[in-house]
Amino acid sequence: MSAATTRSRTPDRLCAEAVDLARAAAEEAAAPGVVGEHEGLVSEGDRVVTHFFGCREAGYRGWRWAVTVARASRAKIVTVDEAVLLPGPDAVLAPEWVPWSERLRPGDMGPGDLLPTEADDLRLEPGYSGEDEPPPHSAVSHEMADLAEAEDADVTAGPPAHLAVPPSRGTIAAVAEELGMRRARVLSRYGLHAAADRWEESFGAKTPMAQAAPASCMSCGFLTPIGGSLGQAFGVCANEFSPADGHVVSLGYGCGGHSEAAVMPKPPQPAPPVIDETRVDPFPLRPSPDSGSVPATEDASTAELGHS
Ligand code: SF4
Repeated sequence: MSAATTRSRTPDRLCAEAVDLARAAAEEAAAPGVVGEHEGLVSEGDRVVTHFFGCREAGYRGWRWAVTVARASRAKIVTVDEAVLLPGPDAVLAPEWVPWSERLRPGDMGPGDLLPTEADDLRLEPGYSGEDEPPPHSAVSHEMADLAEAEDADVTAGPPAHLAVPPSRGTIAAVAEELGMRRARVLSRYGLHAAADRWEESFGAKTPMAQAAPASCMSCGFLTPIGGSLGQAFGVCANEFSPADGHVVSLGYGCGGHSEAAVMPKPPQPAPPVIDETRVDPFPLRPSPDSGSVPATEDASTAELGHS
């Protein structure tokens, strides 16, 4: 009996002594030969005791057979309540179950996979569907209608409702179309921030690549601007030799492939010929017959220069 597993409440004596009865119940529930030594007992209540036996099954290291025995008040016969296999303090357990939506990691999706987006996904908010758009020429309020009619009376022959074709430019739908908001849902402010943080972490100014870069993407010819509010801080790299090719990069990011950082050296140009017009260089047509390689005219020219 292990003192560590015995509660302070004193176990019932008859129940505590019913070790053989508990072992028999455990062996009946388990496969033959897998019930180990008696490892202790705990008092569950008045005349209720649980006996623990080791489990010898290889796949259940640290688990214990727990057999609860009890007896009725003023009765001397102990009976078995239940026999179960329970994990002990050192038992090897499966990891806690995690819902699939929390288990999924970026890059887990493959071709043909479907990833449903929850209706209350914080990264999204309703876009402009046009459902709540007032019909053409309808007044937003009576005051606005009166105001519009008063203004139109001065400028046009009649209110816009009398025009044959309603103007499309300037309508809510046209503006929503231009801003890319005519979708069921668009990125929320939280979604924008989350994306910006992620991109900044991967291709931002604090990455080792950017720290060692000769210049930032902002001045690089390979940077392709993107629209929307994120375009103020990010663009897409279009340099196939850059590690960020095809990725959204922060304007503070940079790499060694910067278009202006390392300009290819020009091939050396030969120096232009120098024409000395202050002296005459005589070139004899044939060598002098008596002095070998020294031409006869050279002596004459030297003598002439010395004379002058
Ligand atoms: S090549 Fe380098 S510096 Fe230029 S945009 Fe791409 S990542 Fe930025």
